Amino acid sequence: MNKTSSNIMALAPNTSNKRETVCIFGTGDFGRALGHKMIQSGYPVVYGSRSTQISNLIPKDAEVLSHAEAAQKAAIIIIAIQRQHYNFLIPLAEILRGKVVVDISNNLKLNQYPESNAEYLSQLLPGAKVVKAFNTVSAWALQSGTLDASRQVFVCGDDMEAKQMVMNIVRALGLTPLDQGSLLAAQGIENYPLQLFPMWKLPIFLSFGLTAFFFCYCLALDVIYTYIYENKNFSFFIAITIPNRVCPVMALILLALVYLPGVLAAIIQLYRGTKYRRFPDWLDKWMLCRKQLGLIALAFASLHVLFTLVSPMRSFVKWRNGKGIISQALNNKTEPLDSTNAWLSDSYLALGILGFFLFVLLGITSLPSVSNNVNWREFRFVQSKLGYLTLILCTAHTLVYGGKWFLSPSAYKWYLPNIYMLSLVVPCTVLVVKFVLVFPCVDKPLTQIRQGWERTPRYSE
Ligand code: NAP
Repeated sequence: MNKTSSNIMALAPNTSNKRETVCIFGTGDFGRALGHKMIQSGYPVVYGSRSTQISNLIPKDAEVLSHAEAAQKAAIIIIAIQRQHYNFLIPLAEILRGKVVVDISNNLKLNQYPESNAEYLSQLLPGAKVVKAFNTVSAWALQSGTLDASRQVFVCGDDMEAKQMVMNIVRALGLTPLDQGSLLAAQGIENYPLQLFPMWKLPIFLSFGLTAFFFCYCLALDVIYTYIYENKNFSFFIAITIPNRVCPVMALILLALVYLPGVLAAIIQLYRGTKYRRFPDWLDKWMLCRKQLGLIALAFASLHVLFTLVSPMRSFVKWRNGKGIISQALNNKTEPLDSTNAWLSDSYLALGILGFFLFVLLGITSLPSVSNNVNWREFRFVQSKLGYLTLILCTAHTLVYGGKWFLSPSAYKWYLPNIYMLSLVVPCTVLVVKFVLVFPCVDKPLTQIRQGWERTPRYSE
């Protein structure tokens, strides 16, 4: 291999405290922001640009040279230029041989090109040590110093030493490098900033769909039915009454949907007699978005609490209570206290309060700052055991609310059940199946399967 003087200094270790010069190709937004941050961190910066004229946008202590001259001054060259212009690098291939070339580029679309930009760069510069880094950090965050939300920098590359040099720079800038492995990981790293809440899509669509369905269902039974058959206009129910029916129903169903894939997975494993076969794709996807489903359920439960707390302020509730008192006064008759009803209403409220408290606890433990501070067993205890307890309390809260009333014929308008009855289908199914799964005769083989036992071993000894 032909080693030029610039190549020899390419990977020379830095023995003094002085930082090595870094070259940045491109004086655009990102190049300037990164150069500024590097100069602040003590790195001499030299820019490689098509124009060597110094503009006042360029950091004060930086040099601006032609690409070839700038590249010869540094062992690390950061390419702050869009991929579509990379062809200009081909004539510089010899100068860049043996150097660490950092690709920071992003695309406009997911998987826009057959290969990642970093792999494309390494095809254009076969002698260079290409490393992917910095693409998840924005120029604005670098410049303004607001890096709290995006302190992590994904780094990948085939040359360990080159990757280490880039990771040292990342650390010196006050950021956290995360080694993602070889250059094969570059495509995933380039797709990362283009993703739009990938884990939230399914839970959000499901929540929208179910909310719209239950809202229309309540509208038909509580407003339209009453208007047609009782000639009463309860259209104002749309503001608080109906949302306060839909929110608890959604909270309960979504919480049950967090635990349903777990019991389905257990049934599949018991049926197959092994854990070494993949679950169907839909079940895999469902399991991956359980945290998001749980958080949306918590949001619905919180709305239910707020809607319930403002109830006494509603003029409809004040009117209904006043009407009851006046009718008792007119009839000169006080309704006796029904202790069964008092028990039911207090138990209903107590179950709701306890259920909501545990719901909030589950939400708090799912925060990364909290879950990072508990071990795997503690996390499972909270998310599984306390999670099921929350589901039991919330299901009991709904059952006690419905009580005997669920069986009354007036609960069936147009022969349709009340939404509270519908909301119990999924949670009751989950709880019944879970109850069966904890029986020793079912739990024992399931535990064995999860520890690697197979009914029909694939490899006989
Ligand atoms: P930009 O403002 O458009 O700057 C790109 C620079 O490339 C130009 O200033 C120019 O520098 C150089 N250039 C343009 N056409 C060229 C050509 N035909 N040949 C050679 N050089 C050319 O873009 P940017 O926002 O800085 O982004 C640069 C790279 O960083 C992109 O790959 C982008 O995906 C990535 N990135 C940007 C951000 C961000 O927040 N902006 C975040 C992460 C990653 P000279 O005039 O000095 O030659």
